[in-house]
Amino acid sequence: MYQDVLLHIGGEWRAARGGRTLDVINPATEEVLGKLAHAGTDDLDEALDHAAKGFATWKAMTAYDRSKIMRKAADLIRERADAIARLMTMEQGKPVGEAKIEIMGSADVIDWFAEEGRRAYGRVIPNRVPGVYQLSLREPVGVVAGFTPWNFPMSQAVRKISAALAAGCSFILKGPEETPASCAELVRAYVDAGVPQGVVQLVFGVPAEISEYLIPHPVIRKISFTGSTVVGKHLAALAGKHMKRATMELGGHAPSIVFNDADLDQAATILAANKFRNAGQVCVAPTRFIVQEGVYEPFLEKFVAKCEALKVGNGLEAGTTMGPLANDRRVAAMEGLIADAVQKGGKVRTGGKRIGNKGYFFEPTVLTDLAPDSRVLNEEPFGPLALFLPFKTLDDAISEANRLEYGLAAYAYTRNTATATALGARIEAGMVGINHHGLALPETPFGGVKDSGYGSEGGAEGLEPYLVTKFVTQASA
Ligand code: NAD
Repeated sequence: MYQDVLLHIGGEWRAARGGRTLDVINPATEEVLGKLAHAGTDDLDEALDHAAKGFATWKAMTAYDRSKIMRKAADLIRERADAIARLMTMEQGKPVGEAKIEIMGSADVIDWFAEEGRRAYGRVIPNRVPGVYQLSLREPVGVVAGFTPWNFPMSQAVRKISAALAAGCSFILKGPEETPASCAELVRAYVDAGVPQGVVQLVFGVPAEISEYLIPHPVIRKISFTGSTVVGKHLAALAGKHMKRATMELGGHAPSIVFNDADLDQAATILAANKFRNAGQVCVAPTRFIVQEGVYEPFLEKFVAKCEALKVGNGLEAGTTMGPLANDRRVAAMEGLIADAVQKGGKVRTGGKRIGNKGYFFEPTVLTDLAPDSRVLNEEPFGPLALFLPFKTLDDAISEANRLEYGLAAYAYTRNTATATALGARIEAGMVGINHHGLALPETPFGGVKDSGYGSEGGAEGLEPYLVTKFVTQASA
């Protein structure tokens, strides 16, 4: 059922010219699922050449016609969702129900941008001189290179590709090598929907080799990256050196503040669901649970009960609510962070260990009594770890929330409107959810501040990074 994954270059699904391949591993069984074609620079040169031609074709089409093709791609994804969900679970690990939600959500993202591209309005600026038309036009930036990670193989890619295509750009995607098949299905839907040759292309390989070749290349006018802050800074520097526009969606360490006056059941239910979704490998996952002293113990108890009710297992099996971690690096990272925390006085309230020795399963874990210099309080955990910290006052909570250089998502639970308003105003984050989750919808902005990056990937703001402004002033001859 899982087939070898090919590159898509110049309208053709094909192996790498050099014949290089990589194995794709099932994180639930550690078995090899299939092979993945690994691009070399000759493949990249072909992709660049086709992308430049594809851009000319796509830009020349009307926004109306582009939109029709995009909407067809969304429909194809919906039709194929069940089959794609199984591929995603096999290669990434998440429960198949979560995979299906990601896929259906991706179709919605395409629909949103298909429509938004028809609203990429310019302006007519009132003149100073009679007979002069001053036009501010919005044009596509050009060929885009995108780099997307393994945690959401389809939804990380769909936001970039769809915004770019809606703006009239062509796109070369370097997909995630560990979860390539479900990402390739997104490209297949676009191709089958009738996107012209060279408009959407897909490569895989050694990430650094590909980014260092594509970013400086004169054909590429913009890059968009989702991944860790350390890699993002490196790619942003490279983009800056070569005057390429960039969007950076990087790491987070989301403060999740629970006040004495919160609805504790609501907070525990929503925060636990979002903490352990995708085994915590989510850039906006709640991580630092900053809980007011009056409800610290009762909230902790409710949260631990939610953790202990999770069923960890193979995502293809019915009843599984949390799958394995996506790769062995995450298991090692969890073990290292927990050992460091415990060595500095932290306590494991529940979980804390790998499960079994086949597959990358890990227990949903809650840590308390953490020393401020514990690595886990300062580095993005990116796994099923919840870190509990008590606080006294609103100011204390905000100062802990803003302490790190990350600024992606933040959450709070309170029934007090003044507290909610103060949080919305004072938390340094690109996204703040109060009394519910509600992030990453097609129509709402998605992005971070500080070391979590720049640029937005959703909503009307999501189209902006793919457009440039051209001013035309015109008088009659
Ligand atoms: P990593 O930092 O090596 O890779 C993260 C992502 O960046 C991967 O998709 C990888 O293919 C890509 N990448 C790495 N080097 C690159 C380069 N030079 N050019 C282009 N792409 C490059 O680590 P990892 O083990 O894959 O993931 C670990 C960390 O990455 C996590 O702790 C988390 O902080 C971060 N991460 C974030 C997201 C997100 O949604 N923001 C997703 C996946 C990983």
